Amino acid sequence: MLNLNRSVAAFDKAKKVMPGGVNSPVRAYKSVGMDPIYMERGKGSHIWDVDGNEYLDYVMSWGPLILGHADDQVVESLKTMAERGTSFGAPSEMETKLAELVIERVPSIEVVRMVNSGTEATMSALRLARGYTGRNKIVKFAGNFHGHGDSLLIKAGSGVATLGLPDSPGVPESVAQNTLTVPYNDLESLRYTFEKFGDDIACVIMEPVAGNMGVVLPEEGFLQGVRDLTNEYESLLIFDEVMSGFRVGYECAQGEFGVTPDLTCLGKVIGGGLPVGAYGGKKEIMAHIAPDGPIYQAGTLSGNPLAMTAGYETLRQLTPESYEQFNRQAERLEQGLHEAAEKHGIPHHINRAGSMIGFFFTSEKVVDYDTAATSDKEMFAKYFRSMIGQGISLPPSQFEGMFLSTAHSDEDIEATIEAAERAFAEIK
Ligand code: PMP
Repeated sequence: MLNLNRSVAAFDKAKKVMPGGVNSPVRAYKSVGMDPIYMERGKGSHIWDVDGNEYLDYVMSWGPLILGHADDQVVESLKTMAERGTSFGAPSEMETKLAELVIERVPSIEVVRMVNSGTEATMSALRLARGYTGRNKIVKFAGNFHGHGDSLLIKAGSGVATLGLPDSPGVPESVAQNTLTVPYNDLESLRYTFEKFGDDIACVIMEPVAGNMGVVLPEEGFLQGVRDLTNEYESLLIFDEVMSGFRVGYECAQGEFGVTPDLTCLGKVIGGGLPVGAYGGKKEIMAHIAPDGPIYQAGTLSGNPLAMTAGYETLRQLTPESYEQFNRQAERLEQGLHEAAEKHGIPHHINRAGSMIGFFFTSEKVVDYDTAATSDKEMFAKYFRSMIGQGISLPPSQFEGMFLSTAHSDEDIEATIEAAERAFAEIK
C-alpha cells in the first residue's frame, strides 16, 4: 500500500481554495475513485510524489514531456534564458527559431503564430477559418477534444468524457447551433452534413489521430475522404495536432498519413513542458491574421522566451531515430499488454499510433466514441489503482492514452508489462 499522507493533506488544503482542489479536472483522479497524488519532482521516465513514492510515468504531463522529465539540455537552456529575463513584451529571436523548426518539419505550415495553450490555438484557428471563409458553421467529430473554447465543447472527449458530463452549461445556444458533430471514421455522415449545410461550413476541425476518447486511429481513407469533401465544398480542413503533433511521427500525423490540412494546431510537445500552443498553415490564409490582416488575435505572453526555449530544445533533440525507438518500444508494450490481458481473460482492445497507446477494457473494435464508450470503466479504475500501487503512473482515465518518452528504457517497458500482468490477475 502506498503511503499518501502528504498528498491527502495537500489536497485538503487545495480543496479550500480551488474548485475541486485542482486547476484542470482530470487531475482530480475522480473517475478512478482516488484522490490526486501530489508530485514533487521528475527525472527521465520517473516521477516522485510528496510522500517520497517513486513512479514510472506514462502521463508525461499529458504528452508534452517527450524527452522525459527535466531533460538536461532543456533545463540548462531554461536556466540561461531565465537569467536574461522571463518576458520582454517585444519580439525575441527564439520565437523565430522555434517557428523555423516547426515549418521545416511540417510541410503544410508555411507561417505559424505562437499562443499559450492548445485551447487558444484551436479557438484562434476557428476564428480564422470563419473570418477567411465568411461562413458560420464548423464541423467536429464526437469524442474529439479541442480544448475548452465554447464552439468546441460539444460532444467533446478528454475530461468531458471522463467525468461523463453532458455538453457544458454556459455555452450559449446560439454558439452551439453552429457546431455540427459527426461520428469519427464516418464519412457518410460527414457527406450528409455537407450536403445539408455545406454552403455555411467554414471548416472541419479534427484530431487526425484521436487521443481524447482513448487512442482511436483514422481508418484507411478516412482522412483523405475528409480532405476531399472539404475541398469540394471549399471549407478549410484543420488538423488539431496538439496531441499528435511530433508525437506520432517526425512530421506529425499529417506526415505519417500523407494528408495535408489547410491549418494545423499544435501544443504540448512544441512547448517541451511549458505553456505553448500554435496554429499555422498556408501563407495566404495566415495573412488574414492581425497585424497583416483584419482577424484579431493577440497575447501578452505569446512567444514567451522561456516557453520558446523549452520548445526549441525539445524539438531540436527529436530525430527520426527517436521515433524508431518509440515505435519499437511501443510495439513491445502493446504486444506485452495484449498477451498479459489474454492470459487472464481480460476483454481488451488496444489502439496505437507511434508512442500513443490506448488500452480499452472492451472486446469491441474501437473506431469512434460510441465503441470507446463500451469500455468497462470500473475495470479500468481497478487496473489503474493496481498499477499505481505498483509504482506505474498511468493517465487516470479510460479515455486518455499512455505516452512514452525518449527516456523510457526497455527495462521500463518490461517492468510495466509485468506489473500489468499482476494487475490483470488481481482484477479479473
Ligand atoms: N486539442 C487536443 C487534441 C488536445 O489533446 C488538447 C489537450 N489535451 C487540447 C486541444 C487543449 O490543449 P490545452 O490543454 O493546452 O488547452
